[in-house]
Amino acid sequence: MKPKVAFYWCASCGGCEEAVVDLGEDILTVVELVDIAFWPVALDFKRTDVEALGDGELAAAFINGAVRTSEQVEMVELLRRKAGAVVAFGSCAILGGIPGLANQYERDEILDFVYEEAPSVENGATRPVEESAVDEGTLTLPSFDASVRTLDQVIDVDYYLPGCPPPAHLILAAVTALVEGTAPEKGAVLAPDVALCSECPRAATKPEQLTLEAFKRPHEVVADPEICLLAQGLVCLGPATRAGCNAACIGGNMPCTGCMGPTSRVLDQGAKALSAIASLLGATEEDEIVARIAEIADPVGTFYRYSLPASPLHHRVEKEPVP
Ligand code: SF4
Ligand code: SF4
Repeated sequence: MKPKVAFYWCASCGGCEEAVVDLGEDILTVVELVDIAFWPVALDFKRTDVEALGDGELAAAFINGAVRTSEQVEMVELLRRKAGAVVAFGSCAILGGIPGLANQYERDEILDFVYEEAPSVENGATRPVEESAVDEGTLTLPSFDASVRTLDQVIDVDYYLPGCPPPAHLILAAVTALVEGTAPEKGAVLAPDVALCSECPRAATKPEQLTLEAFKRPHEVVADPEICLLAQGLVCLGPATRAGCNAACIGGNMPCTGCMGPTSRVLDQGAKALSAIASLLGATEEDEIVARIAEIADPVGTFYRYSLPASPLHHRVEKEPVP
């Protein structure tokens, strides 16, 4: 009997599921090692298939996406019960990810915009409701939680496989280690615990003392493909981001946006990135500093692109508490 594993998605773009398919021929290695007992995005499994498993019968559940709805909470709690190990798969599950940027807005602001105010919406202010009476009984929809949560803010997580999506070589190594019983201690992040700059092919061109006179956005310059992107004025988060992706974005001449998350020594990736970049500012006068900062479009989306729900900040708080 091969060990059974499950793959599941919560608030996810589907890229993490795609990453499993992108294993290419290596997916045959995975299939040789395990039986896939649940993978609703790719195979016709139902929730009842998971419910029929014994507690702990799954060797591992790989769960991607952040958690925002009651259905997602129910599913991850069910998978937690059925799995010996739960792996938070990808930035959204580990840190909240791109869906976590919704934590800049209140729940009702999001519903107002999506169902009434968005320029492309014309639906007579129709809103989904959690319960509807029909002749056959009551239909229900999942509830929409107050904020986006990381997987480990909802259930106990054993391992973390970072990336947006996780790189194929790390996925294969993680599956193999779990099946062979060689996984590290519980709580480990299954990627190197050093900053991306240490594996970046441009590291030798990053000056020891770097001072930035201006910030540029990737579409505003044609970056030199050999020189450190930060040294060229592009906001590269390599100094505040975990390695393990083989510097894939840098190889495409694009700055690191931080998807591998922080190293173990960092509590708040966004604050660390902000402080790393701010310390390079050449400006000393206040108006100069304000002008430099204004060159960074969307600071929350730049520094907290993947990590707002995992940060101690977590969610925008109303100045006046809601009664
Ligand atoms: S981590 Fe990236 S690829 Fe995976 S679901 Fe989130 S946004 Fe998509
Ligand atoms: S700042 Fe970016 S481009 Fe420069 S060495 Fe680090 S990862 Fe590479």
